[in-house]
Amino acid sequence: MNMNRTIKNTVLIEKLTLFFGGFLLFTDVFFLLVAICTDMPLMRYVVYVKLVINTTNIYLILKKHYLISTVIICTVILGFMIVGLVCVGTEAAFQLFALGMLACISYSGYLHNRVLKKELPFVLMLAIHVAVYTGGYIYARTHEPLYDIPKLAVDILIAFNSAATFGIVLIYMVLFHNVAIQSEEKLEQMALIDNLTGLYNRHFLLTSMEHMEVGSPEDRWLAILDIDDFKKVNDTYGHNCGDYILKQISYITKKNCKDCIVCRWGGEEFIILSTIHNNEKEILETLRTKISEEEFSFENHKLHVTVTIGATHYESGLSNDGWISNSDEKLYYGKTHGKDQVVL
Ligand code: GH3
Ligand code: MG
Ligand code: MG
Repeated sequence: MNMNRTIKNTVLIEKLTLFFGGFLLFTDVFFLLVAICTDMPLMRYVVYVKLVINTTNIYLILKKHYLISTVIICTVILGFMIVGLVCVGTEAAFQLFALGMLACISYSGYLHNRVLKKELPFVLMLAIHVAVYTGGYIYARTHEPLYDIPKLAVDILIAFNSAATFGIVLIYMVLFHNVAIQSEEKLEQMALIDNLTGLYNRHFLLTSMEHMEVGSPEDRWLAILDIDDFKKVNDTYGHNCGDYILKQISYITKKNCKDCIVCRWGGEEFIILSTIHNNEKEILETLRTKISEEEFSFENHKLHVTVTIGATHYESGLSNDGWISNSDEKLYYGKTHGKDQVVL
């Protein structure tokens, strides 16, 4: 995971934990009002305790103790769910919180592991939530609730508990959805883009050639560009300088072949593929001249490099391998006849 993403995710952990801590404080006020209005002393006392724990938890979050505060948040929610079930039974839907927390625990487990490199015992926590949900539900169905509260109060509790649980589940589903999309995009990029130059890789080019439909076949041309005496660059100025030259040449090629697919074919060879009608002679000659006139500076060195380019048009019935071989033959001709030239 790169640094920016780690920082972004650490901020996300901080925001999520703070949000939950704040949300719990808000629920304390709500449940305290309900407990007072409906005369449920047990719930009232538990909310007082919850208030102290939740306030302490905010302090822990601000001190960046995310793991312990996540465990506290889950325990407090679970504990209060039990109190709710004992006080008013299953009707007020307190048990929903245990289900909603499954999404929250799974995502927190993932974030702690990936970002903070800490093991949140999330499988154990999930198991506890399921067990407490089942146990609490059975208990509440087999025992009379401690308090008989008005129907309006029950309705308000149902609405609040349901909305809060749906909110929790939705938030975490959206977060998981984003993680899945970002990971897929990253994998796709890694599979198709060359790491050093940022150009498309060989795999992308071959796939594109297999599915090529743009332009008429005779307009298509394919050029192979090979840096001249590149071994000498590495031997004289070092491998890092060689890498720098590869990146610079990639940049220049991409800039000069805007409507083409430019890929790193391998080592110091690039393929430029055009599927539309254009003046390839002019495009490739301009590219070769630009590269040969460029003064590359790496550390304290100033150097010039040249390239040889071989290009051919598509011929009907030709396989993609055959087409690449044809361009390669032109490149070979250029290499054996003085280099620094475009052979068409
Ligand atoms: P020619 O003009 O005939 O093409 O000579 P050349 O020296 O360029 O060709 P050769 O194929 O003998 O050498 C290619 C060199 O490219 C060898 C290898 O070390 C270097 N090379 C390949 N990939 C990389 C890379 O990713 N980074 C660096 N720095 N060098 C690379
Ligand atoms: Mg080569
Ligand atoms: Mg070379």
